[in-house]
Amino acid sequence: MTAQIIDGKLIAQQVRAEVAVVVAKRVELGKQKPTLATVLVGDRTDSATYVASKGKACQELGMGSISEHLPASATQEQVEELVRSLNADPTVSGILVQLPMPSHINEERVLSLINVEKDVDGFSPLNIGRLAQKGREPLFVPCTPYGCIYLLEKAGVPIEGANAVVLGRSNIVGMPAALLLIGKNATVTVCHSRTKDLPSVIRNADILIAAIGKAEFVRGDWVKPGAAVIDVGINSRPDATKKSGYRLVGDVNFDEAKEVAGFITPVPGGVGPMTIAMLMSNTARAAEIQDP
Ligand code: NAP
Repeated sequence: MTAQIIDGKLIAQQVRAEVAVVVAKRVELGKQKPTLATVLVGDRTDSATYVASKGKACQELGMGSISEHLPASATQEQVEELVRSLNADPTVSGILVQLPMPSHINEERVLSLINVEKDVDGFSPLNIGRLAQKGREPLFVPCTPYGCIYLLEKAGVPIEGANAVVLGRSNIVGMPAALLLIGKNATVTVCHSRTKDLPSVIRNADILIAAIGKAEFVRGDWVKPGAAVIDVGINSRPDATKKSGYRLVGDVNFDEAKEVAGFITPVPGGVGPMTIAMLMSNTARAAEIQDP
């Protein structure tokens, strides 16, 4: 059996095209142009690259982008003041604070300051709390887990009644992914570093979402035949055949798993492109909420 490859790049392009239509319509009607403000604190090159690609995506879709950069020496008060001023700025639809911030900054305090109507990353306690409660809807769903569920639905994978295993319990991926799956009536098991006998737990999964940051950790013989495998991991492996000297791999051994699974996302080109697409979608939604 060879799995159907879920093409995240293509599906992300479709989402982006839909967002571009919403943006163009709003601009035509003279409504608030969806605008994303990013906040970067410090000099991490990976964070700077992520922020730049989010700004580029905004421009490609006709959205506005504001990029705020504070030095690594910025104080808690300075970061909080910047978030407050973006909250008050009517031209800003969504605020994204790039994590991680320098260790002297209390991230939780900063995130909890973001106006819930501008929380396009979906990480504020209010949005996560709503996600966790039956019958309540968050204003924004965190982008990476949102992308995972969107890929499952686009591929036609039944979620209701499925046994789903989420590998990893981070605030940004594992936990919200588990909450979303529960909300869609899957039976969910969340695994982490203390879980005993992972292979046997995973072998029971009709749906596996892997988000642990360990290169090719999940082996093919752990995967239930026909299962849908969503690989969130982004890890680099040394590869002398590449100009960069490395290649990106997921948390799942793709070559092994694709022989057993029914559906699988590649790395790169699976979940990765969906994260930015969902951020763009959330930002357009923020503008719709603030200026219907
Ligand atoms: P994280 O915050 O480091 O959390 C890792 C989780 O994996 C933790 O819950 C940890 O368990 C669990 N874990 C670690 N080693 C394990 C093991 N050997 N067995 C079982 N569980 C284990 O990671 P994250 O931020 O969620 O990111 C996970 C991966 O997704 C990374 O590769 C990251 O680069 C990638 N990512 C990709 C995107 C995207 O857009 N595609 C977005 C975000 C993240 P404990 O809780 O017990 O420590």
